[in-house]
Amino acid sequence: MESYNSFNVTQQQVSEAARILKLDQATTELLLWPQREYKFVLPVRMDNGKVNVFHAYRIQHNYARGPAKGGIRFHPDETVDTIRALASWMTWKTAVVDLPLGGGKGGVCCDPKILSEYELESISRAYVRAVAHLIGIDKDVPAPDVYTNPQTMAWMMDEYETIMNRHHPGVMTDKPQQIGGTEGRRDATARGGVIAVREACRLHDVDPAGTFAIQGFGNAGQRAALLHQELLGGGRLVAVSDSRGALYNPDGFNVKDLVTHKLRTGTISDFPDAKSIKQSEVLALDVDVLYPAALENSITEDNANNVQARIVCELANGPTTPGADRVLHKKGVHVIPDILASAGGVTVSYFEMVQDSYSFFWTEESIHEHLDSKITKAYHTVQDSIKEKQVHPRLAAMLVGVARVAEACKLRGWV
Ligand code: GLU
Repeated sequence: MESYNSFNVTQQQVSEAARILKLDQATTELLLWPQREYKFVLPVRMDNGKVNVFHAYRIQHNYARGPAKGGIRFHPDETVDTIRALASWMTWKTAVVDLPLGGGKGGVCCDPKILSEYELESISRAYVRAVAHLIGIDKDVPAPDVYTNPQTMAWMMDEYETIMNRHHPGVMTDKPQQIGGTEGRRDATARGGVIAVREACRLHDVDPAGTFAIQGFGNAGQRAALLHQELLGGGRLVAVSDSRGALYNPDGFNVKDLVTHKLRTGTISDFPDAKSIKQSEVLALDVDVLYPAALENSITEDNANNVQARIVCELANGPTTPGADRVLHKKGVHVIPDILASAGGVTVSYFEMVQDSYSFFWTEESIHEHLDSKITKAYHTVQDSIKEKQVHPRLAAMLVGVARVAEACKLRGWV
């Protein structure tokens, strides 16, 4: 039976890359484990006057190439191992797109769906009070992730600046633009994925104006639906799912109406003119492009054989297990792995850090151009690695990332 512990999965991926790269034992060991882990509890007074204690983490997986970088998730199922895995994937993601950053991740075990706005603010501020000594533009820079957003970053930055008693906007990215955020960050993860799909369609002769399906309809999924049609000259969104259900419409959804419905009601359910299907069916449809944009371990050894898409563009972190990777590769499905497909967000986060550090902001057009060139270059670097090493796309991307990080560790004299 395959392990679905995400940290085991990342360790398998790192070990395989290290073996092919012939890294020595010490370097491999260093890359397998986070450099720093911080686990803490947050006592927070709730609206009813009682105190709840939330378990929280900030993990810096590797900072050889630059400050640790990665989001903070608010999710009830967080564990030390989910955060370790996500921090590790950030290390490889920033390296694949060649950003001068390392990898990190944070999380609070809580259920934002049952928390008030004021309770979310209190948790966000308490989190920063606990990690203020660990973070900073030259140490570790958080961003949003699952169930956190620019408002969360605004509260967190404000708390940090209050503690430090000075302005310090570069401590968080994906902030609202009025307080140091950048143009083009909100749709950056999806835009990066769609740019990679554009390159993959060219290479594999797939019609970008064909059909596509999206699993997970949060920020990345919604933006991908809109951008796929905008940047690739059309395309029919025929199926979509979220945490509550899934819908199918062979004629294609009106994407703008679907996004408006989701934002208004919090779910895709009850959207008119669509057939309700099982969530698992979204992964098994005969479409040109499938975007997994939900959580880890969605495509496993058990369901990978059902995938019929020609291209799988992983906007989520860790949606495919190693067993599933082997099955998809055998079936000839072209996977654009998460550490490449979802790298648009952190790439524009890096542009935000640069702009914050000299307090001069770029135009939206220039952000889009820089993002396009970073993702296109990374896509082709990974293609070269696939050809050279004759391996599947995720392993090829890992080989690029792991080699770059290993080299930085060596140059520093760590190994
Ligand atoms: N949470 C996003 C990711 O997983 C963005 C991270 C960032 O911008 O630091 O890639």
